[in-house]
Amino acid sequence: MARFYLPNPEIEDGRLRITGPEVRHIRRVLRLKEGDELILFDGQEKEYRGIIIDQGTRSVYLRIEEILSIQKESPLEITLAQSLLKGEKMDYLIQKATELGVKKIIPFFSSRSIPLLDKSKRLNRHHRWQKIAIEASKQCGRAKIPEIIPSLDFSEMLQSASPQSLRLILWEKEKRRLKNFLKELRMLKEIFFVVGPEGGFSEEEIENSKKGGFIPISLGERILRAETASLCLMSILQYEWGDIG
Ligand code: SAM
Repeated sequence: MARFYLPNPEIEDGRLRITGPEVRHIRRVLRLKEGDELILFDGQEKEYRGIIIDQGTRSVYLRIEEILSIQKESPLEITLAQSLLKGEKMDYLIQKATELGVKKIIPFFSSRSIPLLDKSKRLNRHHRWQKIAIEASKQCGRAKIPEIIPSLDFSEMLQSASPQSLRLILWEKEKRRLKNFLKELRMLKEIFFVVGPEGGFSEEEIENSKKGGFIPISLGERILRAETASLCLMSILQYEWGDIG
């Protein structure tokens, strides 16, 4: 059944009014009609199953058949801080990290990030990434949308990590390997990990992150593309302590 996203749905007497961009999607793209059934989710773990009873150019009305509380979020809260990547790589990463259950994504500028966006472009990109996270959540059945933070500078990004989280920074030159490191840890609830740009981190950035309580970690001898490194670590963490597998 088709799923649509509507934050703060308006409900009165068992009728739910859909407004905004999903109206076009329902009417024009999927051409749903009165009597058709659909699912709406509000991004806060609530789903509404309903039947279309009326529609106009700006609104679609549903009769609610069922309201469900959906618990599909991983017990592991992962924040991925990713140095800005070129072109569509960032879009790809946001889509895949959403499927893998990321809680928050923080794009940031580092000394070797290539796309130096001006302010208006930063805003456009941020809207675009939010849309990608919404679409990926719809597609994979997530009831909560991951939060995409507007791009931060490197030091702001480091400071945004909560002190109770395990803070990792992926660095291909590090001796400490993830496999050995994980063996020493007990179950975790919150992880904040940082991945560099195509050109990697500078030594100075690694030093600054260490001062901020981050632990550098290597994923092995091969140098992975930044998006591969992010998705590889996310998959391992969700398998070890989260909800994959
Ligand atoms: N500095 C490198 C270079 O230009 O040859 C490579 C950077 S790599 C393409 C991009 C990012 O992915 C790195 O900054 C790091 O965060 C992560 N990464 C890639 N391979 C890794 C590995 N084997 N171990 C840990 N992190 C890795």
